[in-house]
This record gives sequence, structure tokens and C-alpha cells, in this order.
Amino acid sequence: MITCDLLVYQPFEPTGHGLACDGASIQSIVDHAGTPTYVYSARAIRDAYRAIDDAFASYPHVIHYALKANSTLAIMRLLRSLGSRADANSGGEIRVAERAGFAPSDIVFTGVGKTREELEYAIATGVGAINAESAGELDRIAALACTQGRVARVAVRVNPDIDAQSHPNISTGLRTNKFGVPLQDARAIYRERRGTKGLRLVGVHIHIGSQITTLDPLRRAAASLVSLALELGDDGVSLEHLDLGGGLGIAYEGRPIINPADYAGAVIPELRRSGVPVVLEPGRAVVGHSGALVARVVDTKRFPDGRTFAVLDAGMGELIRPALYGSFHRIVPVAPRPGAETAWDVVGPICESSDVFARDRMLPPLEVDDLVAILDAGAYGSVMGSNYNRHLLPAEVMVDAGAWTVIRRRQTLEDVLSLES
Ligand SMILES: *Cc1c(COP(=O)(O)O)cnc(C)c1O
Repeated sequence: MITCDLLVYQPFEPTGHGLACDGASIQSIVDHAGTPTYVYSARAIRDAYRAIDDAFASYPHVIHYALKANSTLAIMRLLRSLGSRADANSGGEIRVAERAGFAPSDIVFTGVGKTREELEYAIATGVGAINAESAGELDRIAALACTQGRVARVAVRVNPDIDAQSHPNISTGLRTNKFGVPLQDARAIYRERRGTKGLRLVGVHIHIGSQITTLDPLRRAAASLVSLALELGDDGVSLEHLDLGGGLGIAYEGRPIINPADYAGAVIPELRRSGVPVVLEPGRAVVGHSGALVARVVDTKRFPDGRTFAVLDAGMGELIRPALYGSFHRIVPVAPRPGAETAWDVVGPICESSDVFARDRMLPPLEVDDLVAILDAGAYGSVMGSNYNRHLLPAEVMVDAGAWTVIRRRQTLEDVLSLES
């Protein structure tokens, strides 16, 4: 059920002693850490990072891992040790990247609504590039930089009006989306600011969406960016990098999809037309397969129409993707019971009808206190956690070479109430 032809390393595998992550027993991890708990495989992160790095070996490139997919410090430090740089989407993420040891110059700062305070901080700390979302933002950056007596390194995020063919909520490259400046306006925006005090125009940026599973939109986005870069070259703007953003999808349903080599094969021929080094900002593709959310069954029940529910101690407060985007996650019992598979609705404990992980999922018999693992939860899982219904944020554990450590302790009610009078 778990092993399919996924082209990538699968860290969660059944063993004689139940499900294991890189050889560490999930049962023994949660015996200590409790449930719900996120469990990550360091090896899966290393393998995924290197697969992308290797795929681009033939072209000058740097990888700025997108923190917003998962910014737990231990994960960031692991990525930094592999040579990754960082893509931050807020002032908070810039500071977290710095805490994890990233040099400011190795951080790019993206974000559709950067506040004055965030921009002031990014300029003062000296991030590698600020990806500006509008002409107005560029001018505010210039003014703030002049006030500080500094020069801000900037790129403009262009919106190419390309359909990423992903879920509408995670598509960002259409002209109906809020992101970036229209491609046709970009050249004039650069040209008008060639000599602007306080600005150095170092790059161009594009990011058309997330969980992209077809090559064509990614190739077209790269082609648009390269064409713009060539025009800017004619205008005397010499760029240091072309930032292709992130978006590479992963195989949630166990079916092979595009892999980093396919992606590189599609975009490198476009990039060669410019010769300018590329910045990549993968998030999901680096950490998605590395993590599982391990939860306990707290109730089971059957309705007269035959619908059977397994209620878990984790829900949309721990992993909101199914409720937010109708996303699919594989679910596996940690110690499968013998017996025929039947259709289960696997749901969370939260007072929302959308708090559902899966409907009509074929699973072996489940009983109260059984453990299940919700796979491929390494990206956009923990980072989107909330305290809704006063649930406490789960613990996080990293497994490396068979040994595991708690990388984030479980939140306590005292942690939460400490903010309140
Ligand atoms: C979210 C985001 C990414 C990462 O996207 P993935 O789909 O996780 O690879 C990269 N760049 C920017 C600007 C983003 O907003």
C-alpha cells in the first residue's frame, strides 16, 4: 500500500513491528512523545534536496528553500548544512532563518503585503534580494533604503498570466491573482528605476503556484522570465539572477509525477538563452514526503446508512490541507489489524464539518487507541497549525539514521495562556 513507484525515497515503511520511519518504530516514538506528533525523516529531506541540486548541476544555480513549507528550526538547520539558502515570506520568517544560522545575504524576501516594519528590517539586515510585488513597493523600498543610507537589492515579481493547473487556492500566476506586477508592465518598471537611489535591480522573480504537476506551465514561466531578462539586458539592466520560485509538486496519491530531473530538463534550455544564474525556491518538494502526522483513534462509529467513522485526536488544527484544499493524504495504520479493508471516513475532533482527512478510504479494521499515520505531511502541515478549539500544537520529532529527537516539544496550555490576562 505504501510502496509505489514514486521516484523518491519513502521514509515510512511497514516492518514486522509496525510502521517505521527510517528504521525507528513509530509506536516507540509516540510511546515517548505522545500523539498527535509530526515525525520527519532527515534522510528524506536530504535526498529530496540533493535530487533538486543534482538535477540543476549543469547550470549555475542556488536553492533558496521556501521556509513557509516548514520552518521548524531543526529542519532549517539541516537544510542549511546541505548548502541551502532561504526564501522568507514575512519578517518573522527572515528572523527564523537568521536564528537557524542563515546569513542575511542568503535570504530572499518575498511576500504580497510587506509592511513598513518588515521592509525596514529586511533592508537593515541586508537580505540578498527583496522580491517586490508592485511599483509602489519598489518606491517605498527605495525611500526606506535612502533613509537608512543603504542600497536595497531588489527583484520584481512578475505575474505572467500562466495557469499553473494546480488547485485554484494555490495558483498565483494568473492575472486574476493578487501576486506580482503584470508581465507587460515589468520592463517599464525596471527602465524607470535604473538609476534610482537606494535600489539595485539584481534579479527578476516569478512564482506561479504550488503543487504543480505538469511541466508546461513551469517551462512557459521560465521562458517568460528569460525573455524579460533579455529585454532588460537591452535596456542596460544587468541581472545577477533569475528567480524561478517554487511550485514543484509531489506525489500525494502515490502516482508518479514530474520529478526534479524533468523540471530541470524543461527549464534549463530556456535559462541557457540568458546565461544568468538561476535561483530556485522549492518548499513542498524538499520536505513534503519527509513528514507524517501520527494520530490516535479516539472513537469509531457506524451510521445507519453504513458510513463508518474513525475519529482521531488530530484534525484541521494540526493539518488543515484536506479541509482547506480538499487535499489527498495517504493514511496508514501503524500496526494494521488483520481483516478485510472497508470504507472509513477518517475525521478530526474539531467542531467543523470540513474537519475530515478522508472519506470512503479503504482501511483495515480500526479500533479505539489504534495509531494511524497521515503521510506526506511534511510541507504546509505543522506551519499551518492553529489552537482552534484550544487544541495544543503537536510535538515534532526528527529521525536521523534510526535515532530520533524531539525537535519541537508539544505546546502546553500554559504556553497558550501566557499571552492572556
Ligand atoms: C510558497 C512559495 C514558494 C514555495 O512553493 P512550493 O510549492 O512549496 O515549492 C516559493 N516561492 C514563493 C515566492 C512562494 O510564495
